[in-house]
Amino acid sequence: MSRYWTELVNQLDPYVPGEQPQDQQYIKLNTNESPYPPSPKVIQAIEAYDKKRLRLYPDPESTRLRQALADRYDIDRSNVFIGNGSDEVLAHSFQAFFKQPQPLLFPTTTYSFYPVYCKLYGIDYQTIDLRDEFVIDVDDYARACGGVILPNPNAPTSRLLSLAEVEQLCQQTAAVVIIDEAYIDFGGDSAIPLTRQYDNLLVTHTFSKSRSLAGLRLGYAIGHEQLIEGLNRVKNSFNSYPIDSLAQTAAVASVEDDDYFRDVCAKTIATREQLNSGLQGLGFRVMPSAANFVFTEHPSHAGADLYQGLKREGILVRYFNKPGIDNFLRITVGTDEEVTQLINKLTDLLA
Ligand code: PMP
Repeated sequence: MSRYWTELVNQLDPYVPGEQPQDQQYIKLNTNESPYPPSPKVIQAIEAYDKKRLRLYPDPESTRLRQALADRYDIDRSNVFIGNGSDEVLAHSFQAFFKQPQPLLFPTTTYSFYPVYCKLYGIDYQTIDLRDEFVIDVDDYARACGGVILPNPNAPTSRLLSLAEVEQLCQQTAAVVIIDEAYIDFGGDSAIPLTRQYDNLLVTHTFSKSRSLAGLRLGYAIGHEQLIEGLNRVKNSFNSYPIDSLAQTAAVASVEDDDYFRDVCAKTIATREQLNSGLQGLGFRVMPSAANFVFTEHPSHAGADLYQGLKREGILVRYFNKPGIDNFLRITVGTDEEVTQLINKLTDLLA
């Protein structure tokens, strides 16, 4: 609290990201980063980058990167928007599309940045409770609203909606529906093809997970040209150059190396199954996951204690002290070796 703050800043309730310790070597399974390095072609592109070009501003429209994504998804460049992390894409979307006075709808248990943006932009919202086992029932969203947003798979619950369910969401409202596909590459069907049919559907993706580029800060949205133009209007009223030229160069190389991308996703999915069976072998209940993390609880050990115990042992996982999920851990799928170490430490902690 400061006498210099505006009333808005006074009332903000900022998002708290997972720990990013700079001082100790942890096995880091807490913020859903990839355990694998970016594609060797990305590394090469960064090394070959002409550093003298840094004196110039980057392409404000990220044209090459948008074209690379358009080619990959067989769409037009005018259907692609790039942001500084998908968080920035989401922030601009909240400002661009969620109309009042009817509330924005999102699940009660979901990505906790959504209510933060609502507060920042003064958007009224209503949360919709999940059904048993964290299932999202899309029928619950068939009501008057100023928009719908949800991650698919949902975070932190890891549960997936089918494309038919996403399509139903688009059909049952005239407002904008945003499907936040930060984790879709790990086992779900992307709704990107549906953006051709539904002009109220915006799909967001990130380079932070399946493309191993969390440090570069890149995300994108795909949707109807008019939605993309809306995002550009917000972006160009905020920052002309949010994507630096090095990031644009590296991201193009990432998109062009589809084999590496598919390999990382396949390895992550295989290790997720190893993590699942390791946890189940210790008596954990594990939610079905289509993401690069699992959501799990133990029937006789408190989530908070396990989180602390693992941290003492040098393993970071994510714990949310929130109603309904305060016994759960969200564990990122690491390498096979990291998962083995995690299971060994948990075995000791449970003993
Ligand atoms: N959406 C969801 C559901 C997420 O979990 C995250 C990562 N915290 C993001 C969006 C943002 O990812 P980034 O800004 O790194 O692209």
